[in-house]
Amino acid sequence: MRETATARRARARKILQALERAYPDAKIALDFGTPLQLLVATILSAQCTDERVNMVTPALFKTYPSAEALARAKPDKLEAAIRSTGFYRAKTRSLLGMAKALVERHGGEVPCTREALTELPGVGLKTANVVLGNAFGEDALAVDTHVFRVAQRLGLARSDDPDEIHDQLLEVIPRGQRTRATHLLITHGRRTCVARKPACPVCPVRALCPWPDKTRR
Ligand code: SF4
Repeated sequence: MRETATARRARARKILQALERAYPDAKIALDFGTPLQLLVATILSAQCTDERVNMVTPALFKTYPSAEALARAKPDKLEAAIRSTGFYRAKTRSLLGMAKALVERHGGEVPCTREALTELPGVGLKTANVVLGNAFGEDALAVDTHVFRVAQRLGLARSDDPDEIHDQLLEVIPRGQRTRATHLLITHGRRTCVARKPACPVCPVRALCPWPDKTRR
């Protein structure tokens, strides 16, 4: 029988409660001190582990401490500094475009609205929501690869498009809990509901998960 929207919302609430009990230490894994640093780190984290990004950013933030400094960076120097995060040419273009737009449109400051953030080069909905939720304290759901996978296995959303997954999750995750839900779903995806062989037998939300291909002991 098809689950009603009300039943799915109730199940989502129970899932979040169980994940909170299982992962009370869940938090963003990227190191940052300012909104600009988080924006840069999030752009670098595409197709790269947060651990790798955290190895690169201390020197990067020291060399380019402001949007103005980043906007003036020599592309080849910037490429060399971020090379180990992969896709370094495209990321360099994004960082330079983003920094120049910050200087030209926002006085070198990172804007704190979703609309202004997503108008920056290289900044999509996920990156904007990471910054809003973690640097500005907003209630924002960021759909990364883990949230995308876990939400579908848990039957909370279904689409090939991460932005649609985002919109569907907003229907079931209560206001005020969306940044926290992001941390919990990402942590669950990293530690238990991993891509290749999820640890279903020890999963804290197994009883609430309809995924038909659960792994066995
Ligand atoms: S039961 Fe398995 S598939 Fe479902 S959420 Fe848990 S680990 Fe993921």
